[in-house]
Amino acid sequence: MHERSIAESILRIAIAEGLRNQARSVKTIRIRAGELRAIVPEQLSFFFDFVARDTLAAGATLEVEKVPIKARCKTCEHVFMVQNFQFLCPQCKAKDVDTIEGLELMVNEIEIA
Ligand SMILES: [Zn+2]
Repeated sequence: MHERSIAESILRIAIAEGLRNQARSVKTIRIRAGELRAIVPEQLSFFFDFVARDTLAAGATLEVEKVPIKARCKTCEHVFMVQNFQFLCPQCKAKDVDTIEGLELMVNEIEIA
């Protein structure tokens, strides 16, 4: 039920934002989701439609922008994109790396009417 609890959080943010702007409805919600969050956009939209029924955000479109994983090597400080979840520095082959992008999960933009 990973996606369902995320859908509920997004809905709370969207409704709060809609109310603050005296919106009649929320049309589109754009979220940024790091690849490490393993979000399935179709599932997220499905749960969102379900939890948003009879709210300001009913029928709103969810757009998910996936953020690729980026890491920094702790040994040589090389910054690289992580492909296929291989957390290995391409420069010095060290495995001790910090994830610097790819974990985010945030509402980026909301369109209201
Ligand atoms: Zn390195």
